[in-house]
Amino acid sequence: MTETHATSSDCIFCAIATGTMDADIVKENDRIIAFRDINPQAEMHVLVIPRAHHGDVVQLAKAAPETLAELVTFADEIASELADGQFRFIFNSGPQAGQSVFHVHGHVLGGQRLGWTPA
Ligand code: IMP
Repeated sequence: MTETHATSSDCIFCAIATGTMDADIVKENDRIIAFRDINPQAEMHVLVIPRAHHGDVVQLAKAAPETLAELVTFADEIASELADGQFRFIFNSGPQAGQSVFHVHGHVLGGQRLGWTPA
């Protein structure tokens, strides 16, 4: 199980959330920040994260379900602002599922017709 803290000193997404590391930010408020993925997998590929550190989406759902709901709203608004309003919203949870950064983040993918090849 991953730990939950307000911030984590060795977390790159905490560094983005606190402004100590640069990112291509597309939307933010007091609780959430959204920025373009450095290795985009679609025409629109944005990551939405809570500023507070939670290791994965399950930890976030247990600790702050209202923030998880707000991430969904953020994703919807970003898809409308940057693309046609349609999007895929993915949370990888655990290394075997492809999670490589252990600060919860939702991938907002769109701007094109998407395939479906999770393997
Ligand atoms: P995961 O594999 O689901 O954990 O997704 C991590 C994502 O973070 C990957 O798509 C990476 O390309 C992306 N990423 C890693 N470092 C940065 C960064 O500094 N800025 C923006 N995206 C990043």
